[in-house]
Amino acid sequence: MDKKTESVHKYEYKAEMKQLLNLIAHSLYTHPEVFLRELVSNSSDALNKLRFKKLIDKDIVDPDAELRIKIEIDSKNQMFSIEDNGIGMTEEELVNNIGTVARSGTLEFIKNIKEEKKELDENLIGRFGVGFYSVFMVADEVTIETRHAASNAKGYCWKSSGEGEFTIEEIEKNDKGTKISFKLKDSAKEFSEEYKIKQIISKYSNFADFPIYLKKEQINKVTAIWHKKSNEIKEEELNDFYKFISNDYEEPLGHLHIAMEGNVSFKSLIFIPKKAPMDLMRIQNEKSIHLYSNKILIQEDCKEAIPEYLRFVKGVVDTTDLPLNVSREVTQSSVVMGKIKSAITTRIFSLLEDWADKNTEKYNVFYKNFGPLFKTGLNSDFANRDKIIELLRFETSLSPKGEYISLKSYVSRMRETQKEIYYLAGENRESLEKNPNLEYFKKNSIEVLLLSEPVDVFVFPSIGEYDKKMIKSIDKADIELEPQDKIEKPDDNLSKSLISLFKETLGTKVLDVVPSKRLVDSAVTLVVGKDGMDNQMEKMMRMMNQQTGETKKILEVNMNNPVIKNLAKIQIADSNNSLLKKCIIQLYEGVLLMDGNLIQSADFVKRMSEIMEDATK
Ligand code: ADP
Ligand code: MG
Repeated sequence: MDKKTESVHKYEYKAEMKQLLNLIAHSLYTHPEVFLRELVSNSSDALNKLRFKKLIDKDIVDPDAELRIKIEIDSKNQMFSIEDNGIGMTEEELVNNIGTVARSGTLEFIKNIKEEKKELDENLIGRFGVGFYSVFMVADEVTIETRHAASNAKGYCWKSSGEGEFTIEEIEKNDKGTKISFKLKDSAKEFSEEYKIKQIISKYSNFADFPIYLKKEQINKVTAIWHKKSNEIKEEELNDFYKFISNDYEEPLGHLHIAMEGNVSFKSLIFIPKKAPMDLMRIQNEKSIHLYSNKILIQEDCKEAIPEYLRFVKGVVDTTDLPLNVSREVTQSSVVMGKIKSAITTRIFSLLEDWADKNTEKYNVFYKNFGPLFKTGLNSDFANRDKIIELLRFETSLSPKGEYISLKSYVSRMRETQKEIYYLAGENRESLEKNPNLEYFKKNSIEVLLLSEPVDVFVFPSIGEYDKKMIKSIDKADIELEPQDKIEKPDDNLSKSLISLFKETLGTKVLDVVPSKRLVDSAVTLVVGKDGMDNQMEKMMRMMNQQTGETKKILEVNMNNPVIKNLAKIQIADSNNSLLKKCIIQLYEGVLLMDGNLIQSADFVKRMSEIMEDATK
């Protein structure tokens, strides 16, 4: 039998994989060195898997060998190789795990990068599960020799030049694990230098859980720093560790070191990053907490260690109270995990409270970045609801943009006559400032909380009251406004007949028309009834394609506004004047337009021309 030709199998990459490879080969890399981090991380994963397998399965090759990673370089020939004695891969795994794009979002993401001509930077490569292929930044052709750890497994050699195809051939390989080797491109020959490898390992992979050898010398640290005493951990160590587990380039905003003994024992290091990821509210698989059992990593992303709304933190939890081979199902229902979670949550709250109290600047950085996610805890963590409420911060109509106050200080600033807490929700500070419903409050220096995060309308109204004071949207009709003094009182009869004309003209478009107490400058405004959804809420629901049914609103008319006064005069002179109805509809649609609710604008513009024509006659 001609073994050679029979055993070499050729495979085509799938179309999407080709695209990806093409992109990698033709992109500019700011940090080609990340290929090393990716390869070490894969080896480290493979070693972890083996360590894990050893616990339950004895039928593996050389079970007692030290688990390690070996890097070999030859600067004369520009050669590089990295070898682990981890779990290895079967033929099937070589095809499936190496030859395809792992995560579903990856392709979309690549398209985006192409369109925006962004650089494919180091952070992105690892995050989108295309780690292995980063080797094609530094090599034209790559060889993988691997053998799965099971004692009856065979060895395989995978080769590809990262273009259209790859080949797999059966080989003799006695030891378990994977070796990846290649000749470095000229542009990347520095990666065959000893100093360079040491430098990169200490930057990215210092805490990898296994020794990494270069020419028989161990070049990483392998310390589980969370096992040290707090005062023995150097700040630099902490920062390095944070960067290692989070792939962040910046230092963290702060950290917690927890060591609990007692009804549950665990150690933990928790970090709060400085910046939120772009898609903070959507990321579901962001690795937040790594779960260890006595220094052995058992889950990379342990969702049970932290409530959903705090998953912006990064860190490790290490407990001996869980068996090593614990499955996801077990952690989900585990009493131990429940206790750990609540202990960590309590500590995070203490840290945030401490910042809010003593280090406003830091707290505000946290709040601006993670506030939107943090607030969602109001709807999910009822045990900590009161704490969350105290930690909320707001911009207000009386404080400059970018300045935040708490509900507590809002209440302390309320005047004696004010009974309720007011807020207004909208898209951003600028449009909120221009909202006619704010006029009364501005004029009377009554403070209004300004909410401009999309999530606000879903979480904030649920608070209901604070310090026994009702929290109310000033978009609503049922606010008790004190009559404005120093304002001339309009003639009641005149008002009445103009209001009736408004009602007659607008018909069922509105719930009611009433003279306004809240308007100062604007002619009209729309408010919602007591049980209606406020404007911003309605808009959000529509964005999420929720059928809300149309909430009818109440039109408030400012009887002191010059346009309204003129209309009243025209009505006395000639109640059939066609300008009257035109202006009324125009005023109404004008408010809709401002609120972003005018669906059809052609009539509005046409009517405007007619009115201008009249005015310029
Ligand atoms: P990720 O690590 O995010 O899964 P990679 O592209 O880095 O993505 O690796 C793809 C897959 O290839 C891994 O999930 C693993 O199954 C396999 N793999 C890569 N390197 C090794 C290795 N050294 N040992 C065993 N399997 C590996
Ligand atoms: Mg990887």
